[in-house]
Amino acid sequence: MTTTPDHLHAFIADLPKAELHVHHVGSASPRIVSELAARHPDSKVPTDPEALVDYFTFTDFAHFIDVYLSVVDLIRTPEDVRLLTYEVARDLARQQVRYAELTITPFSSTRRGIDERAFMEAVEDARKAAESEFGTVLRWCFDIPGEAGLEAAEETTRLATDDRVRPEGLVSFGLGGPEIGVPRPQFKPYFDRAIAAGLHSVPHAGETTGPETVWDALTHLRAERIGHGTSSFRDPKLLAHLAEHRIPLEVCPTSNIATRAVRTLDEHPIKEFVEAGIVVTVNSDDPPMFGTDLNSEYAVAARLLNLDEQGLAELAKNAVDASFLDEPGRTRIKNEIDTYTSTWLAP
Ligand SMILES: [Zn+2]
Repeated sequence: MTTTPDHLHAFIADLPKAELHVHHVGSASPRIVSELAARHPDSKVPTDPEALVDYFTFTDFAHFIDVYLSVVDLIRTPEDVRLLTYEVARDLARQQVRYAELTITPFSSTRRGIDERAFMEAVEDARKAAESEFGTVLRWCFDIPGEAGLEAAEETTRLATDDRVRPEGLVSFGLGGPEIGVPRPQFKPYFDRAIAAGLHSVPHAGETTGPETVWDALTHLRAERIGHGTSSFRDPKLLAHLAEHRIPLEVCPTSNIATRAVRTLDEHPIKEFVEAGIVVTVNSDDPPMFGTDLNSEYAVAARLLNLDEQGLAELAKNAVDASFLDEPGRTRIKNEIDTYTSTWLAP
């Protein structure tokens, strides 16, 4: 296994980027988690950042979900929500992320008793502060926690479609959590309502189950992008369909290793996706929990796809094009990527 050369790491560090698949609670860094754990001492989450590193080492996907939910349990007040959102934006800005679609699971907070309006105000307040202070534009994806059943689906859909509640920054609707035992087609009525309300469909699919789940997401949930889609490589017809219809995959390589969806990075199918002509975007998923960040994922992609600076710039532009940012916003970031790259490569 070769490593990514230093000059590419330096290039990636300042490359303007868009992040399309990153979870709100899953972005909580050990520092933020330890702060929240200290505020809620009855939690089983360690407060010591070093102990958190061990705590965040998973044996399998089910264990990951358990740990994740224990961190969810730390988000109990609107102030917790605001702190988390704002600090996550700061981490994104440090990596030159100009635009991010952050996946939020509002059901996890509202069922804990956080007032829904206070929740929406907290994320919107953080979004506006992040844009003016860090220059990072945030948009929201509200996702159904698949493990929580149809009650959660109903509640998430209501929060995403009721004009009196849904936040201004909301652009898309998703489905996360375990796939095994949680068939996608049952969520069709909820996605239909979200799509009718103007939201884009971006479910997770094919992360821990086979390509049939990706087909389900396309057919029943009308997916415009696929979260992960890792197992798609096992179905040539699916690869051709994704390429032909320009349905991007939100690829999160290190996450797939951490949750054991893929055994090793060298076995990751990202190269097959690119070779099949699919629009591939690279993302970080739950970065501190997986010991990664978006820059590291770009370095992984550079190695697996054998990319130089120009190739990395194209990868960054893929994410901008696959985003739900408006056209002027997309053009602005792509121009910034081009200017940065040509300046970097100038003799
Ligand atoms: Zn995810």
